[in-house]
Amino acid sequence: MLGAGFAGLGAARQLPAKRFDVTLVDRSRWFEFLPNIHELLSGVKSPGLLRIPLAAHARRLGHRFLRDTVLAIDPEAQRIVTRTRKALRYDALVLALGGVNATYGVAGAEQHALPFKSVAQCARIGRVLSQLARQREPGRVVIVGGGLEGVEALGEVLRRHRTGGRLHVTVVEARERLLADAPAALHEHVLSLCEGWNVDFELGSPVARVARRSLRLECGRRLSSDLTIWTGGPAPNPVLAEAGLAAHGAWAPAAESLQSRAHPGVFLAGDACALAEPLPKQAYHALDMGVRAGDNAARTLDGRRLRPFRPSAKPTLISFGDLSCFLVAGEWVVAGAALGAAKEAVFEAVMGQLDADPLWSRLPRALDRADRAARRLLWPTLGSLEALRRQAQVAVLSTG
Ligand SMILES: Cc1cc2nc3c(=O)[nH]c(=O)nc-3n(C[C@H](O)[C@H](O)[C@H](O)COP(=O)(O)OP(=O)(O)OC[C@H]3O[C@@H](n4cnc5c(N)ncnc54)[C@H](O)[C@@H]3O)c2cc1C
Repeated sequence: MLGAGFAGLGAARQLPAKRFDVTLVDRSRWFEFLPNIHELLSGVKSPGLLRIPLAAHARRLGHRFLRDTVLAIDPEAQRIVTRTRKALRYDALVLALGGVNATYGVAGAEQHALPFKSVAQCARIGRVLSQLARQREPGRVVIVGGGLEGVEALGEVLRRHRTGGRLHVTVVEARERLLADAPAALHEHVLSLCEGWNVDFELGSPVARVARRSLRLECGRRLSSDLTIWTGGPAPNPVLAEAGLAAHGAWAPAAESLQSRAHPGVFLAGDACALAEPLPKQAYHALDMGVRAGDNAARTLDGRRLRPFRPSAKPTLISFGDLSCFLVAGEWVVAGAALGAAKEAVFEAVMGQLDADPLWSRLPRALDRADRAARRLLWPTLGSLEALRRQAQVAVLSTG
């Protein structure tokens, strides 16, 4: 099993240790709950709340955990090579390596912009934001990307730093509007929520180059920046193409059984997998695919018939700090801070589902998460009339 994110953990549970010898390989020592890492920017979540230690998790499932980086996969020889030069052989492989940070070849992006793809990276951004907010001069922050990650990042910066004028934020987006895949009404709504705070938008403005304290846009404009946050979304892991599972720079195509179209002995799950009908790169699809891929890997080894993966339609919840939260389902958009409770409930429910610990030992962690959620999210709301008024407002922005 390669990769222990949403898809990898979903798959790991489908392979009982009594019948299969399972090795879970990941370069990280933790599973990380990526859909909530933006909350590290404001401090409403701490790193420990968003992580599950993988060695202990694998042990409880009866599996082996190898902390290592996958360098190469040879599907013909059914062999994996890792950074520490381990060569692992397999009878069935579930590949769930997610994606890498998409920088679109923009010069300087990897060297000078902080990526937004892990707990450690977002915790670091949170610390830099706090330092900038303490400086004498207002800090200049540029968020590159006005998609889901960029908008959620902006919401958290505003939650923590919008009063006092200590930070000035510019959001740069190559497309003409924010959240370009969602109905246009949501873009207008986000702009209206930012009115009165220190936020500018550079829309339809691809970035040409990133330097240490500035960015140059393709139109030639230069923006000063003390902190550049890069939220460019995911790109395919180069390992996919090197293994012959995908074309260069592409996601790996799979049949509806989630078997690789190039090598049927490899099951693909999560962001790495490209189905004939493309799916949004979302955690709930990754988890469901992992479950199906793990089940089908077991079926292959047992010589049973494989089952197709049928994605279920689920709405997307996009949080915007304490100012609002948006529920997007097709052409429907509903907005209101109260929906933040739904996003928090999804986080709690999925963390509980993924945690392999018995209930008695999971309970203290769940109570700790609930206590922190109350202190950081609920009490600030109840402590101010303005915040309470915001909670009470829910608006339908678009119905298609
Ligand atoms: C900031 C952010 C916000 C998001 N918000 C949402 C949201 O609100 N709702 C939603 O549904 N989805 C959201 N997503 C998307 C969601 O997190 C992904 O779709 C999901 O994590 C994909 O799951 P996965 O298992 O395919 O990959 P991942 O969760 O990325 O897991 C891949 C695993 O593979 C490991 N790995 C990678 N390469 C190697 C290697 N070479 N060797 C060994 N191990 C390796 C990684 O360490 C990781 O543990 C968000 C993503 C980000 C980054």
